[in-house]
Amino acid sequence: MGGFGEVLARYENAVGIDYNVKDAWGVPALKFSYQFGENEKKMCKDMAASAREMFEAAKFEVVSTTDEALPEGWSIHELGTARMGNDPKTSVLNQFQQSHDVNNLFVMDGSSHVSASCQNPTWTIMALAWRSCDYLVDQMKKGEV
Ligand SMILES: Cc1cc2nc3c(=O)[nH]c(=O)nc-3n(C[C@H](O)[C@H](O)[C@H](O)COP(=O)(O)OP(=O)(O)OC[C@H]3O[C@@H](n4cnc5c(N)ncnc54)[C@H](O)[C@@H]3O)c2cc1C
Repeated sequence: MGGFGEVLARYENAVGIDYNVKDAWGVPALKFSYQFGENEKKMCKDMAASAREMFEAAKFEVVSTTDEALPEGWSIHELGTARMGNDPKTSVLNQFQQSHDVNNLFVMDGSSHVSASCQNPTWTIMALAWRSCDYLVDQMKKGEV
């Protein structure tokens, strides 16, 4: 049994540009600063304890457990590099994935998520994109974007 949990947003977690590392075309590479916080570590301990409890209640013999989290990035469900929110000081996009700074820029992907959920993210990415498209069409008809 393995556990997946919601990774909360931490102020220290960010993605930026590394101007010292460039690809073959001279485009600067992305730089990730990403670490699990106390909440994620406690969640792992709880997952291991809960899993053991369930197996033991079902009369399984538990041979081994671990409450160590796998390395950051392992789950390939990382989200939230341009998170949404009402305040332009603490978020990049509004609730329709529209840039606070650039009116006609919409970022309809997983980067708008505020936390990395414990579920597979693709349906939520698609649902948010749908909602954003409806809003975009409406705004275009009104001549707002
Ligand atoms: C192996 C694997 C299995 C997965 N399984 C599941 C699953 O079962 N269910 C689920 O819900 N999720 C799953 N996920 C996660 C899901 O695929 C991602 O969360 C989702 O695709 C993210 O969507 P996105 O549009 O934010 O980013 P992406 O799908 O990564 O899209 C980013 C796009 O930007 C393009 N791009 C990058 N840099 C540039 C550039 N400089 N210029 C132009 N284009 C650029 C890329 O080519 C890419 O097309 C899985 C992921 C992986 C890797």
